[in-house]
Amino acid sequence: MKSKILLILIVFVNSISCEQKESDWIDRTNHGGLNNIALSDNFETYATEKNPKNLENTINNLEQAKAYFDKVFNENLNFAVLFIDNKNWDTYAFSPPPGMPQASYGGNIILGLNKSVMAMGFEKMLSQMPSQAIQGVKTHFGDPVNLDKFFRDGLALHELGHLYQFYKTSKNSQRHWLNELFGNLCQVAAAKNFKDQTTFNQMDSYQNLLIRGHQWGELNYKTLQQFEDDYFEVLKSGRNYGWYQTQFYTMSKTLYSKYGDSFVAKFRNFLIKLKNKDKLDDKALNELMTKEFGQEVINIIKWKY
Ligand SMILES: [Zn+2]
Repeated sequence: MKSKILLILIVFVNSISCEQKESDWIDRTNHGGLNNIALSDNFETYATEKNPKNLENTINNLEQAKAYFDKVFNENLNFAVLFIDNKNWDTYAFSPPPGMPQASYGGNIILGLNKSVMAMGFEKMLSQMPSQAIQGVKTHFGDPVNLDKFFRDGLALHELGHLYQFYKTSKNSQRHWLNELFGNLCQVAAAKNFKDQTTFNQMDSYQNLLIRGHQWGELNYKTLQQFEDDYFEVLKSGRNYGWYQTQFYTMSKTLYSKYGDSFVAKFRNFLIKLKNKDKLDDKALNELMTKEFGQEVINIIKWKY
């Protein structure tokens, strides 16, 4: 009898420690020197400043997105959001330029603070476009157009989507492009579920402008193979990375409008299922995806370049 109790106790203690490990997955080694700004009750927030301004909309977006993802994925995910100013960016983020939103495998989202280098660069690009072309963007952003509303407030949804995947798959994924398609799908789905459609209208008007405007210049990389092989090079050249993202964004809009929330959950389950498989070649991956999602989905995500 005594040994039975002991056994039950051991199992119980084991299950507690296991659970704690899962719910507390956040890598805090990357929080050194940051201020705990406690802007939300639903997740953790840190910043390079003690009292940073203008984060209400970002926090509000993240709270709404968390509620949506928790529901669709049946989770209650804790995570940390790090708001990093331009001069400290390289200390905390894994890739420049400052303000390019990122998600880490350890439960952290890294976003720009104040006017980011990322937003400034793209605002400059915007100022060189004909005023008629940017009228639609001004309707949703106001004038002057503040692109931190896109890169921080809007793309925060995309980065949070990544965390709901990384929480389950960690670094084990088959392809960067699958991760990014999922990030965009999460971004679209969450924004579409907000009561107020401003965030969706902002991201949509801006991404459509980029698609129509052909502002990319010479692109060094265009194929999915290059996206895999030279991922960090593409990432560093912001414009080229942006071009890939607009392709994934367009596909995601079609996928979400056709298949809705259940597809978002199904896609995540697929990524989780793939995590323990050895690296599949393109043919095997394509066959597996066709079997899982059907030919219609494969046609939507077919790469045209
Ligand atoms: Zn992404």
